[in-house]
Amino acid sequence: MPEPTHHGEPLLEVKNLVKHFPIRRGFLRRVVGYVRAVDGVSFHVMEGETLGLVGESGCGKTTAGRSILRAIQPTSGEVWFRDPVLGRVDVTKLGRDQLRQVWRNMRVIFQDPYASLSPRMTLLDIVGAPLRAMGLAKGKELEDRVAEMLELVGLRPEYMRRYPHAFSGGQRQRIGLARALAPNPKFVICDEPVSALDVSVQAQILNLLEDLQEKMGLTYLFVAHDLSVVAHISDRVAVMYVGKIVEMAPTAELFLSPRHPYTEALMSAIPRPDPRPREKRILLTGEVANPANPPSGCYFHPRCAYVQDVCAKEEPPLEEISPGHWVKCHLARELQLTGAVQV
Ligand code: SF4
Repeated sequence: MPEPTHHGEPLLEVKNLVKHFPIRRGFLRRVVGYVRAVDGVSFHVMEGETLGLVGESGCGKTTAGRSILRAIQPTSGEVWFRDPVLGRVDVTKLGRDQLRQVWRNMRVIFQDPYASLSPRMTLLDIVGAPLRAMGLAKGKELEDRVAEMLELVGLRPEYMRRYPHAFSGGQRQRIGLARALAPNPKFVICDEPVSALDVSVQAQILNLLEDLQEKMGLTYLFVAHDLSVVAHISDRVAVMYVGKIVEMAPTAELFLSPRHPYTEALMSAIPRPDPRPREKRILLTGEVANPANPPSGCYFHPRCAYVQDVCAKEEPPLEEISPGHWVKCHLARELQLTGAVQV
């Protein structure tokens, strides 16, 4: 299991996190199998760090984020969080009151700024909602805090009496950010926060997230399907495939020398401004493996360009092949893989 490699204490430690959803059939709704959405995931995030969590749609990254927050109850595993009031606690074991305290410091930003904002609430109501619900502010104090948050995310405080429909997609994501950050949290799960936005607006929101991280001392878990987006904001990146982490490394190292064939294939799909043809372009054939009925051995073997006999028979362990660089592949030490030239 990957242990913290930086100095100091991690803010978040996820140990062997599992989330299986039962599949029920028939009149008696008997359990006939399980969807292994998250299947033994371990990582840590240091204070002030951004860890990118990437993979194709359905790989379990969003379920992992929701399980960490306890928005859904994980099947098993531990989620250790250093809360400023409670100290170091396992979020999976907390009662309702303690969970409420932890949620003040663990917040989430959603993918779709259109769906996540109520059209019938003003910005004052939306951004002020967590402050009111957590008993952190009311009246004039609450208005002042909302004004401060709007300014911090680049919106005018006088907009607070307006409704979300008056704003563009990028502005709505700023409203979502103001709402998430209003209680002054320590840790934020950014769940595909720019996927629904135009490319030009994506860069603005990513820059804003970086500014806010510095100003507010935030720590991020940045969940995305797009490696190029993750590259710009993450200190380290973990790549997920069918509920498991298959590679994890500091961002520059991962992009320059990936050691897992799945990471290489994801990188080969990143568009490049360089018009020269690539030496190698890897097309990922076939679908992502079914987490209700995963393949034997290495889950990636039906799609892997380097597959060997052993790959279908034995599941490779997640091994540290150089300091802080973890890979789950039988051939991790032998393959010469191609990274992304530019990140
Ligand atoms: Fe490919 Fe085998 Fe490595 Fe899996 S273990 S990624 S199939 S080479």
